[in-house]
Amino acid sequence: MAESVELPSRLAILPFRNKVLLPGAIIRIRCTSPSSVKLVEQELWQREEKGLIGILPVRDAAEIKPLGPVVSQGTDSVDQSAKVLGGSSDSHKLETKKPNDVVHWHSRGVAARALHLSRGVEKPSGRVTYIVVLEGLCRFSVQELSTRGTYHTARISSLEMTKTEMEQVEQDPDFIMLSRQFKATAMELISALELKQKTGGRTKVLLDTVPVHKLADIFVASFEISFEEQLSMLDSVDPKVRLSKATELVDRHLQSIRVAEKISQKVEGQLSKSQKEFLLRQQMRAIKEELGDNDDDEDDLVALERKMQGAGMPQNIWKHAHRELRRLKKMQPQQPGYTSSRVYLELLADLPWQRASEELELDLRAAQKRLDSDHYGLAKVKQRIIEYLAVRKLKPDARGPVLCFVGPPGVGKTSLASSIAAALGRKFVRISLGGVKDEADIRGHRRTYVGSMPGRLIDGLKRVAVCNPVMLLDEVDKTGSDVRGDPASALLEVLDPEQNKTFNDHYLNVPFDLSKVIFVATANRMQPIPPPLLDRMEVIELPGYTPEEKLQIAMHHLIPRVLDQHGLSSEFLQVPEEMVKLVIQRYTREAGVRNLERNLAALARAAAVKVAEQEQVVPLNKGMRGLATPLMENRLADSTEVEMEVIPMGVNSREISNTFKIASPLIVDEAMLEKVLGPPRFDDREAADRVSTPGVSVGLVWTSFGGEVQFVEATAMAGKGELHLTGQLGDVIKESAQIALTWVRARATDFGLATADGINLLEGRDVHVHFPAGAVPKDGPSAGVTLVTALVSLFSKKRVRSDTAMTGEMTLRGLVLPVGGVKDKVLAAHRHGIKRVILPERNLKDLVEVPSSVLANMEILIAKRMEDVLENAFEGGCPWRQHSKL
Ligand code: ADP
Repeated sequence: MAESVELPSRLAILPFRNKVLLPGAIIRIRCTSPSSVKLVEQELWQREEKGLIGILPVRDAAEIKPLGPVVSQGTDSVDQSAKVLGGSSDSHKLETKKPNDVVHWHSRGVAARALHLSRGVEKPSGRVTYIVVLEGLCRFSVQELSTRGTYHTARISSLEMTKTEMEQVEQDPDFIMLSRQFKATAMELISALELKQKTGGRTKVLLDTVPVHKLADIFVASFEISFEEQLSMLDSVDPKVRLSKATELVDRHLQSIRVAEKISQKVEGQLSKSQKEFLLRQQMRAIKEELGDNDDDEDDLVALERKMQGAGMPQNIWKHAHRELRRLKKMQPQQPGYTSSRVYLELLADLPWQRASEELELDLRAAQKRLDSDHYGLAKVKQRIIEYLAVRKLKPDARGPVLCFVGPPGVGKTSLASSIAAALGRKFVRISLGGVKDEADIRGHRRTYVGSMPGRLIDGLKRVAVCNPVMLLDEVDKTGSDVRGDPASALLEVLDPEQNKTFNDHYLNVPFDLSKVIFVATANRMQPIPPPLLDRMEVIELPGYTPEEKLQIAMHHLIPRVLDQHGLSSEFLQVPEEMVKLVIQRYTREAGVRNLERNLAALARAAAVKVAEQEQVVPLNKGMRGLATPLMENRLADSTEVEMEVIPMGVNSREISNTFKIASPLIVDEAMLEKVLGPPRFDDREAADRVSTPGVSVGLVWTSFGGEVQFVEATAMAGKGELHLTGQLGDVIKESAQIALTWVRARATDFGLATADGINLLEGRDVHVHFPAGAVPKDGPSAGVTLVTALVSLFSKKRVRSDTAMTGEMTLRGLVLPVGGVKDKVLAAHRHGIKRVILPERNLKDLVEVPSSVLANMEILIAKRMEDVLENAFEGGCPWRQHSKL
């Protein structure tokens, strides 16, 4: 509490604009202006013991009422001082050069001491600021105001009474009465506040311990009162005047508290339940707004209802949806189930119940044109698509089979389907079924499950937002069934025109009509597709492409598309045919063209970087620098943010336009291929290298990537006559290996692999057969002849021909049976640079599907029996013949 203090005769003055610090009050201020910062630094911060400063109220010129005399002073001069006139309410005017800055100083102030000081430095500017907690101590009057450096000081005299003077006043009966009155009012105020805020214990103690004339200041300082009232309180030097003023102010404050209380009690009583709810809602909205969470559930539900009304749901579904909406409206957003119900209704509102893309009059010629312009070759496939479209044209609701494109990746299955959509003027949506094992992926989860969702079909329809798109069921062969149900049977329902009018998604729980959707399917292989599903589809096979076809596709389709995708044109990058051939031979060995496209894109990216670099360099070309003046160069260097282009006078305009042109297009050569795509990944010598030792043969297999060349390796070592097999093999292939070994053992003497009496070929040795590329699962009987060839090569120690590959199943008696995928296998052999292919005799008919350009470069050898295979697989015929000749 403020005790009596000895005031110095001079105090540094901190002006308070339109505010008064009363004795006993505590205030926290932030000093930012240079003058106040300087004052705090010199008078408080740098002093050992806490110093005193004077707080003097000032008021803006605009606020002044015409009062007593004013003294003017120019602040720009250091020592000029203002004469301050005494009087209870006089102010002093300091004039600066700017008329707006006229301030009026009050003639009385309060000395204050700092209770707490903290110094801060603002980050980017480095400006120093102070936060000061000040306590008002006692009144003073200003005798003379002057400026010292940047802040003011004043000669002052204390207005505090001495102890004896105070004792005299305290005897005064008027004072005694006034102080009693003040204390009573103050007590009442404390009690009223106590009721409201449950505080006041400590305030009551103040009443008994602090001298009453000081209490008056302390009480008044804690109310919100006007500046004028604050000033008049400050000017009340006489304790009696101060007490009566304070009593009046405390009483006024007390009355205002009572009135407010009465009003709130009245209002509370009048508020009905609904009003209360309204108020609470308003408050909630305010809180949400404050949190930046503006989404207003009620408005949202109205919007949702409007969306549902516009969705064109059939009557019975609308009823169901409306019932759900009514339920939702009754729920609180926090309630469990609210969100899931809302998400469900959003889906119902988003689904294209009736919205359809307008069907164009189908123009078959235009469709053919479109197919031709999008795809090279594939004449038969295109023909079949046109037939399909023609039927649709004649009978739009024809329940024809679903087209299913079967072929290795990258042969254009997806892009053909999207061309169909374009030809029909419908939207296109692709549903990936690869790896779908759960029926719920097709049909959705029931809403009772946590995290339930609609199936992929309904989700696709929501995405495409029309009910008549072309929907591509991608990779139907990759769906499998397990304990979680059978996705294929769900697909069966989807593709069945009788049933798909009322397709039932478990999540949706209401039927959706899929009959307007045109389904197209794709698969890599036909075999894994469940027969009932296959029954609904018309399979169109797309074999892999020959290198010649790939070249044409690259030149006419892929390169223009890739250039376009990278913002280039043939002006910037040219890929000569020879280079495309090299990319096909050395960097891709695939049935389709996907990797080819990827590699071309890599070339385009590299070219894009070069072109972009070149463009930047061009403007600084030639003599431009020499012609620019040094001054100009400096200016350009300085102005980093402004991009300028300086064309000096006298430079021939043709010369300028030449500098902006790319000198010549970038032409891909072998060096660039190696730089961008790396060293060649494949070459034709692979087969020769692999079969350089006896015991290795070259087979042709069929995988989901199309035909492949497969090497089979066999080796023998000391053992107990066992057969070991490795390389991710299925049961069928394991059996083939057993059959092959048995067959070779049975003919060991005939082949001269063992003498007639030492019948057992495996005496004291094991045989190990390995199918390299261990990561690829292999199965199927077509490796039979290849296995036998590898074993014969192993036991006869003769190498097989590296230019010959073979395929065919073999019976135990040595008959060669036909196998599938001949076309793909022959194409694969061609890709690997193999010149001779041994095929089962009964596969001869399949050769019509192989492009003649491929057959022209190949020798096809027919095998009826295993001996025919061996005859062709070894240089100079079958090894045993040589033996028999001996
Ligand atoms: P898939 O669906 O069979 O795996 P995509 O349809 O995705 O293959 O085809 C891969 C890329 O090859 C696409 O960019 C496609 O346009 C292109 N493509 C495939 N075949 C041809 C073709 N005959 N003519 C032109 N581009 C083709």
